[in-house]
Amino acid sequence: MKLWVDDLRPAPDDSWVWSKTSRNTIDTLMFAGIGEITEMSLDHDLGGDDTTRPVVLWMCEHELRWPAKVVVHSANPVGREWLEGMIYRYKPQYPPVTCVCGKTVPEQEAVWGFCSEECLPEDMP
Ligand SMILES: [Zn+2]
Repeated sequence: MKLWVDDLRPAPDDSWVWSKTSRNTIDTLMFAGIGEITEMSLDHDLGGDDTTRPVVLWMCEHELRWPAKVVVHSANPVGREWLEGMIYRYKPQYPPVTCVCGKTVPEQEAVWGFCSEECLPEDMP
């Protein structure tokens, strides 16, 4: 699942789930399974006093809840700098996986330690 967090701009396409408030975004992260949200794109200002900062702070306290890929699409330079700084400092980095075929892929793209389903042994479920 991909999560698009923005109060005004709609998600680029319907592969994204659109979340408009920090509260709803945290609830979505909380109720999704570990690793279920694979990607998140963040605006900064969400209208009124709301921003995506509480979302990032919440993920800092719940390390396993960080999606593998987190990007910022906010046009607010100060907000953007804060979000990107926090993501850079606190998002867990998983080591890349080297497959039996010799190919190295990012952890989030690996399938049970293999580079793709094509390298999975026949007897794997
Ligand atoms: Zn392979």
